[in-house]
Amino acid sequence: MTTGVDQSKAWFERAKAVVPGGVNSPVRAFNSVGGTPRFMVRGEGPYLWDADDNRYVDLVSSWGPMVLGHAHPAVVSAVREAAVNGLSFGTPTLGEVELAEEIIGRVEPVEQVRLVNSGTEATMSAIRLARGFTGRAKIIKFAGCYHGHVDALLAEAGSGVATLGLPTSPGVTGAQAADTIVLPYNDLDAVRKSFVDNPGSIAAIITEAAAGNMGAIAPAEGFNAGLKEIAHEHGALLIMDEVMTGFRVSKAGWFGLDGVAGDLYTFGKVMSGGLPAAAFGGRADVMAKLAPGGPVYQAGTLSGNPVAVAAGLATLRAADDAVYAALDANAKRLGDLFDRSLTEAGVAHTVQYAGNLVSVFFSETPVTNYPGAQAAETWRYPAFFHALLDNGVYGPPSAYEAWFVNAAMGDAEFEIISSALRVAARAAAEAVQA
Ligand code: PLP
Repeated sequence: MTTGVDQSKAWFERAKAVVPGGVNSPVRAFNSVGGTPRFMVRGEGPYLWDADDNRYVDLVSSWGPMVLGHAHPAVVSAVREAAVNGLSFGTPTLGEVELAEEIIGRVEPVEQVRLVNSGTEATMSAIRLARGFTGRAKIIKFAGCYHGHVDALLAEAGSGVATLGLPTSPGVTGAQAADTIVLPYNDLDAVRKSFVDNPGSIAAIITEAAAGNMGAIAPAEGFNAGLKEIAHEHGALLIMDEVMTGFRVSKAGWFGLDGVAGDLYTFGKVMSGGLPAAAFGGRADVMAKLAPGGPVYQAGTLSGNPVAVAAGLATLRAADDAVYAALDANAKRLGDLFDRSLTEAGVAHTVQYAGNLVSVFFSETPVTNYPGAQAAETWRYPAFFHALLDNGVYGPPSAYEAWFVNAAMGDAEFEIISSALRVAARAAAEAVQA
């Protein structure tokens, strides 16, 4: 049981005076679940500690990166070692070559990779490159998929955009959104029709390799393969956004599970071990269009930062078969506990997986797209979330996010989760629609 949140409350007030909404990324503000965001001060293994010294089993894992758990000794020591040698040089470094080799060694369709600083930058750059390569302007994205806060990709986006219920964002001009075609996820007919309606003008389809930003929704059988086939038939590229799934759902990310090769890939989260770095990559003939070899401009003062690269390399090197087996087993164990507790409490629900991403939807029927996710009884979520939090389990503060396990979790943590879930399931059952 947590023992009060006075410190977090006080810090949140202080934060609100100097940071918009008191947070540096909207979902952290707890807007859709209410209450006080917890200000975390420490993480170790499967646990986080907040400013009031409450301990939580962490089922957010920094929104994906922390596959090994927090402050993993190998990662911390790699970061220390890199930091004492200097924090940034603005020159090529050895580590960035090794990280590129590690990524390419894991994901077969990726022949070259360029490092950037965030997933947003990766998708923004991949789209510019796809447009530059094809000489076309339009992009297809899917409703409920989130690709970072790139202007052109904010339309009907998942993650925080879904949490806040925004169709898009003020500040995105008509011109910026005009070349974005938003289609329903898992609907190949809509994709075919769109190519017929826009002949010769679609540069690329961008899709989450498996959707994780409207909850975990795996692509329907044949969906990714169909996207590839349709895109290629019409001379367009397929961009697989693996920022969330990459190096988490398997050694080779979602590609390792379904084997459908994209032309371009975007990565982030796990590949930088929790520090700010990300990447985009893919076919060598497409990547060759990037400056300095080609005309498509893309750059970054801190790109390939040696400390971030060291954290990423250490994480990927430690993420061996045993880690992926643990992630899969922990995801299944969590999903089974959701199922058992909610069934006992009589709450209609569906537990879904996209690899080892887990979601619980308060919906009797499986969710396959964004309208399905929106139709679930999300009003039960705040009570469920807060009961878990009060009982020492930190879940995502939004009904639209996946749950991220880590490999540091064991029996002790699952016991905490199991008893917290008994309370949370009852709270979800008793919740009333506002
Ligand atoms: N793409 C996907 C699939 C994501 O899940 C995210 C972030 O959650 C992004 C892109 C954007 O990454 P970042 O938050 O590092 O900008």
